Amino acid sequence: MTATDDRATDLAMRARRALSNCGTDVESTSSGSAHVPMLVSHSPIDGSILMNVPAVTAAQVDDLVSRAHEAFLSWRQVPAPLRGQIIKAFGRRLEEHKEDLADLVQLEVGKIRSEALGEVQEMIDICDFAVGLSRQLEGRTMPSERPGHRLMETWHPRGVVGVISAFNFPVAVWAWNTAIALVCGDTVVWKPSERTPLTALACSTLLEAVLAEHSAPVGTHVLALADRDAGPALVDHPLAAVISATGSERMGAEVAPRVAARFGHCILELGGNNAAIVAPSADLDLAVRGIVFAAAGTAGQRCTSLRRVIAHSSIIDDLLRRLADVYARLRVGNPLDDGVLVGPLIDQGSFDRMQAAIAEAVTAGGTVIVGGERVDVEGCPDAAYVRPALVRMPVQADIVRRETFAPILYVMAYETLDEAVALQNGVPQGLSSSIFTLDQREAEVFMSSAGSDCGIVNVNIGTSGAEIGGAFGGEKTTGGGRESGSDSWRGYMRRATNTINYSHDLPLAQGVSFE
Ligand code: NAD
Repeated sequence: MTATDDRATDLAMRARRALSNCGTDVESTSSGSAHVPMLVSHSPIDGSILMNVPAVTAAQVDDLVSRAHEAFLSWRQVPAPLRGQIIKAFGRRLEEHKEDLADLVQLEVGKIRSEALGEVQEMIDICDFAVGLSRQLEGRTMPSERPGHRLMETWHPRGVVGVISAFNFPVAVWAWNTAIALVCGDTVVWKPSERTPLTALACSTLLEAVLAEHSAPVGTHVLALADRDAGPALVDHPLAAVISATGSERMGAEVAPRVAARFGHCILELGGNNAAIVAPSADLDLAVRGIVFAAAGTAGQRCTSLRRVIAHSSIIDDLLRRLADVYARLRVGNPLDDGVLVGPLIDQGSFDRMQAAIAEAVTAGGTVIVGGERVDVEGCPDAAYVRPALVRMPVQADIVRRETFAPILYVMAYETLDEAVALQNGVPQGLSSSIFTLDQREAEVFMSSAGSDCGIVNVNIGTSGAEIGGAFGGEKTTGGGRESGSDSWRGYMRRATNTINYSHDLPLAQGVSFE
């Protein structure tokens, strides 16, 4: 056995141990049968196989949604604060398994330890948020124009929420949806990314154990491990009242019309193409730190990753010099090793798309300042490690206007704030944006309705790393959905307007008479 084989075995063992710690019966899960389709979980760390797990077919997805709908009929009658108590217990269970879950996030996605732990913490945080929310699913009361009448709104669960999640946040986005949907009284069918089935299995096992301990109906949460081909069965199911789908713009363009055709309700969290404006007054030390974390962190594989810097012509050379210096020193490598800041891309296809994008940018007049090349990592010849690329562009060419899900940062110059805002908004996507400035007038313009058109608009921080307390999501081809905090819960509930007559008469609204 070579050292590489040893390491691969070690990764697989680690994954099995973490899964088992979370309560999954690893032996029976991985054994499968000749008649069951299997999903293969690869680790981007070295390209090795972690484990095979059984997948469901499109026909089985149909049954799973029916089972979740059956559970919904009683789950919706459990008082919301009691549903909240179950989510509270789930949050504590996640805390107990934080290290195991972080192991799986690292092994399946290649995140560095701190980011993997941060992703699990985000699940814990949203559970805490959902517990408080379970006592605050409030409706309004409005004055009625009719004497002896009361006019008010009440909110009710919609039914089954189909959660489709992407590989790069394999658990946090599921938790945003699931913790909120469950306290709202919905039940959940989760189709995770086919690339992260183990992380999904672990989370699902933990949640389903807590639900069972609290006698929640069987089917309150259902995992549908499946290839992307089975996705449409969930999307088209008439009992899936809400489809909350996170992924590429391509996926959203397929999902949205199908859900609309059956008058279902969609929450879409799709690709971003996020920019930071760096103004002449910016604190450049702060800007460099914010930019590098947002652009190179998670190897550029966040929906909120910074992909464009729009820098004032008076400071662009200084900024580029500083960024190039940091980029050249960024430690790229095995995310399990201490001190590494940039782990692998998810696969070779992602590396190829990055190379193609850089070539197209150069053809469009761009200059690669630093990065873009493959980085050899000992013991990982089959993995895709790359140095994040910094590319100066003379114009916002087509390639800059598309999301390439890899660490490429395009840097462009501007002269006036109007021009910078037009560049920032001049892409199809509308997820996250930021401005680095010490000029309050500029910051206010950027946050005003004449400024950034994105769902997330920051000042003096980068585009990534949102907190769960705010609503998360973006406009235009990012899909318009909102998840996580603030009043995003309304997307998981339907509104009823109630008029109650406590008088002895029957006055009609608008003074209409029908005697
Ligand atoms: P992807 O679109 O390839 O897959 C996402 C999920 O959709 C997977 O579970 C996949 O199986 C499923 N899917 C694909 N086609 C489908 C179809 N026709 N019907 C039903 N399901 C289908 O995305 P990915 O490569 O896993 O993730 C990266 C993308 O996700 C990037 O574009 C990134 O910006 C985006 N993303 C967005 C957010 C956000 O909150 N806006 C968060 C994370 C990732």
